Amino acid sequence: MLSNNILKCRFKYILVGYYRKYSFSIPEGKTYINGKWVAAKNEKTFPVFNPANGNTIANIPDCGIVETNEAVEAACIALKTWKDVTAKERAAFLRRMFELQMKSSETLAHIITSEGGKPLAESAGEINYGASFFEWFSEEARRIYGDIVPSPFKNKQMLFVREPVGVAGIITPWNFPNAMITRKVAAALAAGCTCVIKPAEDTPLSALAIAQLADEAKVPPGVINVVTSSRSNTPSIGKRLCENPNVATISFTGSTSVGKLLLKHSASTVKKVSLELGGNAPFIVFNSANISKAVAGAMVSKFRNSGQTCVCTNKILVQEGIYEEFIAELAKAMQIQLKVGEGIQPGVTVGPLINESAVKKVERHVQDAVGKGAELVLGGKVHSQGKNFFEPTLLRNLKKNMLICGEETFGPVAAVMKFSSEVEAMELANASRSGLAGYFYSEDISQIWRVSKNLEGEKDLAMVLMNTHTLSIFVLGDWNEFLKSIPVHWASILYWRMAFEINFHKFYVECS
Ligand code: NAP
Repeated sequence: MLSNNILKCRFKYILVGYYRKYSFSIPEGKTYINGKWVAAKNEKTFPVFNPANGNTIANIPDCGIVETNEAVEAACIALKTWKDVTAKERAAFLRRMFELQMKSSETLAHIITSEGGKPLAESAGEINYGASFFEWFSEEARRIYGDIVPSPFKNKQMLFVREPVGVAGIITPWNFPNAMITRKVAAALAAGCTCVIKPAEDTPLSALAIAQLADEAKVPPGVINVVTSSRSNTPSIGKRLCENPNVATISFTGSTSVGKLLLKHSASTVKKVSLELGGNAPFIVFNSANISKAVAGAMVSKFRNSGQTCVCTNKILVQEGIYEEFIAELAKAMQIQLKVGEGIQPGVTVGPLINESAVKKVERHVQDAVGKGAELVLGGKVHSQGKNFFEPTLLRNLKKNMLICGEETFGPVAAVMKFSSEVEAMELANASRSGLAGYFYSEDISQIWRVSKNLEGEKDLAMVLMNTHTLSIFVLGDWNEFLKSIPVHWASILYWRMAFEINFHKFYVECS
């Protein structure tokens, strides 16, 4: 049987079960600042756990303000030369990062599964997805064009030139511990920025693995720095990054509450801040929908990463004419396709949640719904696999006053609500301020046009999916066989391109 226990040697990870050493290595107890592997100044570390079994898999430096300042200083110094590296050379560095990530993809996927619990096939999908940002931006790095604008003066030319904004502070969540970093770092480096990454407490190893790739790719010292920390030091590091005048931009992905806080902190230095925050995606199935397609879509959009993605379906709205049939089909699919267990085990599709507090939140949402009249069709409690596992749960008779309707559940809970008319569905779907994404299934072409226009997933990020379920990731898994070759969605790429252009560049006008 395969095991995801990672034995720690001084400078090596060995994956037991494969009885094979990977050439890939991350120094134990060190983080990466100014091109060197260093301990926290006070030598403090914090443990990283495997959420599937509670085992400690590594001890990582518990950095604070001192190391943050050091990392920012290193990034400032590196900026002086990195910003003048030619576009062609920057492209070559990013291409090397892409190639190295693909070469080490198996190991990197195991790291994600070990620290984040994600089923291995999904982790492999994330590594491909994460690598695609290095690839994309290696190509974009060479196309940082400016503009020539007609001048109102006879004797002047007006040129708009793009320059890197400076040092980027990058704060990322645990649910995509590789891809959330690569999509920010690749864009920043392509633009000529240097960066300081603060990864989540639960998943720092994936960030350090990216630093290791940068080291191997010979990215100059100081261009990429990682400040790891336990949750108790995180707020002071975040504040420091936001308030430090030498940090030009903050790029954050995570919860809405932390995003708001960072925006507040950044006001004092009037920074550019880009925030990708929490979601609350509606999934609407109209009477005209192809029910089996809609069920297949709900399975992916709801249960990917055990329900822990920002674009995961949160509430499923089903029209009354097909309500019973949809619930019966969904229940059947959940029973047949979902297998709960350690992400490393073959065939597992639902891994553990990231930690106990995530389980508590899911439990609270289910209990609240049941207490207010929802009916439990499947699951509903902590899974016998262990304290971080939650049973895939199906609830029906969801009502507007239940927590699931207003908050992101972030767990394997499919909650279904009945609606009668399209107007009612739109009201229910648009009731949240944080849409992020919205899904709907319909075979009525007029309805497709109307709903795609009226669905306000775009309140937050403008991602509306019609008769489809996957926006931005490769999923390579047995139960997701059919998804194997889906490329990164263009909407996602365009969004990232936009973020790249807005956040990592400044523009100036030259008059001559
Ligand atoms: P989180 O608590 O906001 O944490 C995200 C990151 O912010 C982590 O690195 C965390 O570090 C750090 N952080 C926490 N408090 C901070 C503070 N006071 N100052 C500076 N940094 C701070 O979110 P999460 O629970 O890890 O992630 C899940 C959330 O991310 C969900 O809401 C999900 O929807 C959202 N998300 C959004 C997207 C998107 O593209 N929009 C993508 C993925 C996830 P510690 O871990 O050390 O606390």
